[in-house]
Amino acid sequence: MSELVFGVDLGGTETKIGLVDEAGGIVGKRIIQSRVSDRSELLVTRIADTIAAMISQASVDQESVLGVGIGSPGSIDREKGVVLFSPNFPNWDNMELKQKIEEKTRLETFLENDANAFILGEWAFGKHAGSQNMIGITLGTGIGGGIISHGQLIIGADGFGGELGHVIVEPGGPLCGCGSHGCIEAIASAPSISRLASEVKKRFPESSMFRQGTTPSTKEIFQTASEGDVAAGIVLERVYTALSVAIGNYIHIFNPRYVVLGGGVSRAGKPLLDGIRDRVGRYTMTSFRDTCEIVLSELFEDAGIKGAASIVFYKLS
Ligand SMILES: [Zn+2]
Repeated sequence: MSELVFGVDLGGTETKIGLVDEAGGIVGKRIIQSRVSDRSELLVTRIADTIAAMISQASVDQESVLGVGIGSPGSIDREKGVVLFSPNFPNWDNMELKQKIEEKTRLETFLENDANAFILGEWAFGKHAGSQNMIGITLGTGIGGGIISHGQLIIGADGFGGELGHVIVEPGGPLCGCGSHGCIEAIASAPSISRLASEVKKRFPESSMFRQGTTPSTKEIFQTASEGDVAAGIVLERVYTALSVAIGNYIHIFNPRYVVLGGGVSRAGKPLLDGIRDRVGRYTMTSFRDTCEIVLSELFEDAGIKGAASIVFYKLS
């Protein structure tokens, strides 16, 4: 019988729980409401109950389940398996998630931050699975990063490393949620792209970006840019340049074989990919030419579950 693991993708609205086989196949999947305002223990109990129900429903032998991987937003202590602080889970300061899930499920549990889980998911199950040198960037509400170098997740001395979203590309630029100015997150996250668009409204009041209101969604911005809208093009030029500068820096430091883009903004697809691919060469030395491919994640909506599940395969490999 193949080896199975649970992947738990913690989200502010929904928590997705999947039973995943070693090839990345989803054997079972449940989505539960996170209800983050509930007493902190309740979601933990519901996750454990869901896992127990899935084991009995899939009629799998508990022995064939290697463990539970949890991808969590926010700051974590991966050794102790504690969520230190997560903006999505205001009642969860110092939540001993690993210990509580292990007590309730009797399954070995591993915790990792969601951006590291994303690149582990690519390393385990993505199109370029098995590549020993890859970087993941999640472009969503924030920008997360994860680095695999020589098959190892790079986390640094204190485990905080890999914060690729807070590399500064415009000194003195827009204020970032972290307190710095000009981080890549302050320019190329979904809310930042919308904010940049709203800032050009004075200059381009007629732009079709503003058909629906003064703060267009990233989808609307990419759409209107593809229709030839000048203002949307200016906004995206800044986004592509910022991402290309940042990725050029990552390439110089880590010499990755692949840079994998995921998260909601990556759904923009080819225009985003072309926008970065066309520019990144300007910011990298010629010796790096053709050493690295920038690609979009193909794991789509199950990327969170598969990423979380891959934590277990990575830890036990
Ligand atoms: Zn920042």
